[in-house]
Amino acid sequence: MRAVIIGGGIAGLSAAYALNNRARQAGLPLRITLIERQDRLGGVIQTEQLDGFVVEGGPDSFVSTKPWAVELCQELGIAERVQGANAQRRVYVLRKGQLIAIPKGLTMMVPTHAGEIVRSPLISPIGKLRLGLELVVPRRRDTGDESVRSFVSRRLGEEAYERLIEPLMSGIYGGDGDRLSLQATMPIWHEWEQRYGSLTRAAWANRAPSNGSGSIFLTLMDGLGELVQALVKAMEGVEVRRNVAVAEILSGPSGFTLTTDDGETFSAQVVILAAPAYAAARMLSLTDPELAQELSAIEYSSSATVSLAFRREDVKHPLDGHGYLIPRHEHRAALACTWTSEKFPHRAPKGSALLRVFFGQGQGPSTWGEDEDKLRMAARDELDATLGLRAEPLFARVFHWPQALPQYTLGHLQRVGAIDRRLVTHPGLLLAGAAYDGVGIPDCIHSGQRAAEAAMNQFGRTGLSLRLE
Ligand SMILES: Cc1cc2nc3c(=O)[nH]c(=O)nc-3n(C[C@H](O)[C@H](O)[C@H](O)COP(=O)(O)OP(=O)(O)OC[C@H]3O[C@@H](n4cnc5c(N)ncnc54)[C@H](O)[C@@H]3O)c2cc1C
Repeated sequence: MRAVIIGGGIAGLSAAYALNNRARQAGLPLRITLIERQDRLGGVIQTEQLDGFVVEGGPDSFVSTKPWAVELCQELGIAERVQGANAQRRVYVLRKGQLIAIPKGLTMMVPTHAGEIVRSPLISPIGKLRLGLELVVPRRRDTGDESVRSFVSRRLGEEAYERLIEPLMSGIYGGDGDRLSLQATMPIWHEWEQRYGSLTRAAWANRAPSNGSGSIFLTLMDGLGELVQALVKAMEGVEVRRNVAVAEILSGPSGFTLTTDDGETFSAQVVILAAPAYAAARMLSLTDPELAQELSAIEYSSSATVSLAFRREDVKHPLDGHGYLIPRHEHRAALACTWTSEKFPHRAPKGSALLRVFFGQGQGPSTWGEDEDKLRMAARDELDATLGLRAEPLFARVFHWPQALPQYTLGHLQRVGAIDRRLVTHPGLLLAGAAYDGVGIPDCIHSGQRAAEAAMNQFGRTGLSLRLE
């Protein structure tokens, strides 16, 4: 009996780890193979230790509000390595070249403190009036999908969208709010509108009690790579094949046959496909063209991060927060800048500063391809323009992420529904990863765990399990 997991990102690793544990508990003699195209595991999670700095190339933290990442750290025995972001939680937004603090008291991004909004120079007096009118904007009768921009502009006004919500959303999706699906990215807003008739009223009713010091953004002492290492270490018995790319999956009466780019074949009763949706589409194009078409309709955006280290004395700006977000209408090349050594002080040696500039869709990577020098220069231009920082960095490390972030565009839930219906016709073929039910690390972990559970059920159904619980 064999299960193959394709993709060694956090979703594939979580699936392999969970399936291995469940099979052992159930006494199921299962051979598990994880196949990864690259020579390293972790997918977009990539941490480097450089001269005493912890540099995150991809994700830099996970949220505590979704339990799966925290629970996994506990299970792996690394809970004491988890670090919260610096509780001084100010985040700024760039407005006409100036940094303006985001008003305090946002609940699911919706402002709840009238006083904070009234005092904030981020929104104009007319924009504030429009925000207040949200309380009386009628609920939309058509409950079909709507773009994030259309929804937020309709309820909170165009200004609140452009100056507050759009920069916050692009920090997560790096995408275009005109095309992102409300129901797939922020279903809670849709629910709030239908239930309370107003986001503001809903946000008041659901305001999280202040927990004092804790931040919802968590990481590990040596970066997120530590989670990847702990998972790999705990997957005892799982065969890991790196530098192997699956080209094709064919389904037959006794399971699946996988062929790699090099012509090697693997047979398995269960396949957990945790590669990006477009890669999954290619692998399945002969087996199920309809499924492949639905998978390839899930769009991806490219992004890049540039981490720059400085002597602290060279940075005149106080760096009194987690960093800043850049609205698109500011027409800058970058989307955000994280003051990493302020957000997570353990990531930089004393007396130094680590800053990270984030580039996203429609800006840096798509126009400059993989030109590292141009990205490095664009990052330095951004720091110069906003922080007046011209000093020579100690180092500047570029990470390029082509087609790495799925975009839940309009109709995403229907697409995932259609994919699920096709999957029913291929028992033993399971999908996991960021493409479907959530892009954040906790969601991806959860998707891997659910796939592992479904794999165990599949072995049970086919009578292969000896004594399933
Ligand atoms: C720049 C960036 C910043 C982010 N920041 C955050 C953050 O701060 N917090 C957060 O929670 N989330 C963040 N995210 C999102 C989150 O990190 C990702 O959604 C998540 O890590 C994706 O995991 P995954 O396993 O689904 O996919 P991936 O990490 O993409 O892994 C898929 C794997 O499949 C492999 N593969 C592809 N094709 C094949 C093939 N043919 N054969 C074998 N293997 C194959 C790939 O090489 C890859 O390793 C960020 C994402 C990016 C890109």
